[in-house]
Parts: sequence; structure tokens; C-alpha cells
Amino acid sequence: MECELCGKDFSQLKSVNVEGSLLLACYGCAAHGVENKVYKPRKSYSDYSPFSSGMPIAGNLDLAENYGMLIKKARESRKWTIDDLAKKISLKNSTMQKIENQSLKPEDKYVPKLESLLGIRLKKTEQ
Ligand SMILES: [Zn+2]
Repeated sequence: MECELCGKDFSQLKSVNVEGSLLLACYGCAAHGVENKVYKPRKSYSDYSPFSSGMPIAGNLDLAENYGMLIKKARESRKWTIDDLAKKISLKNSTMQKIENQSLKPEDKYVPKLESLLGIRLKKTEQ
């Protein structure tokens, strides 16, 4: 194949845009022209950030949106204090309080404990 710019023979040529016309040029000449950008993605992929899709970022289990309320209602129906419940699942009282306020998600390992103790489901029931 012949470079359309220098006329020399090369086994491989690049498609380059030189002053508006598309030419096949050797790599040496291609460096002088503007490399053809047709096959390069034009759109920035920053628009497709996973954080903009509304998915939860934390790796925790997918808990029901009102998990704190579910826990609190089930606990109160058993006439347990937060302290009672915290002791039953070996959590700190303050941690249990935060979970009920939903300022904290229970760690994955506590979810099944809470569920079986309180007889509730904390995970989302999708699928
Ligand atoms: Zn050339």
C-alpha cells in the first residue's frame, strides 16, 4: 500500500484527516495530519456514572425502605425496650437506636437475627 502523502510503500496505513480530506497515510505522515476521529467515541462516558442511576451505593443488603419503622413496631408489639432488643442481638443500645431511626443500616449479619427475633422481613421482597 502506498502512503498518499509521501508515496512510499508501507504494509500498514492509517486513515487520517488532512485539511478536510480523508487520506491513507503511513504512521510518519499521519503524525502530521489530524488522526481520523470517526471511529472514536465522541460522547463522554461520565454521563453514565453508576451513581446517577439511583442505585444504592452501599454494599449492604437491600433493606425495605422503612426498615427502622418495621423494627420499631415489631419491637413495641413485644413490649421490648430498645435495650432489650439490643441485648438479644448483641448490639449496642445506641446502635440499635440509630437503626430504628434509620440513620444506620444494620450490618448484614444482624438482619436475619432481627428478622427471626421480631418475625418480620427487612429485605425488599422484589423479584
Ligand atoms: Zn507517508
